[in-house]
Amino acid sequence: MSDLDCRGFVELVTSYLEGDLSPQDEQDFIDHLAQCDGCERYLEQMRLTSTALTDLPTGSLPADTRSRLLDTFRARRS
Ligand SMILES: [Zn+2]
Repeated sequence: MSDLDCRGFVELVTSYLEGDLSPQDEQDFIDHLAQCDGCERYLEQMRLTSTALTDLPTGSLPADTRSRLLDTFRARRS
């Protein structure tokens, strides 16, 4: 049973995508992912955004994409 909550999950997403988590953090992260649909969707969006950032030249991502993702996530949780 993971003691990671949604806030903690969000804080770990970037490190997870960069392969930067400790084994314990990664286990908590995956445990939370398995039991939280909202965070699963959030991770998928972040993964897509991350891929877009990698594939596109710097600065070509619309400036409001990040805040729009965050707004979407907040809306889901409220
Ligand atoms: Zn969650």
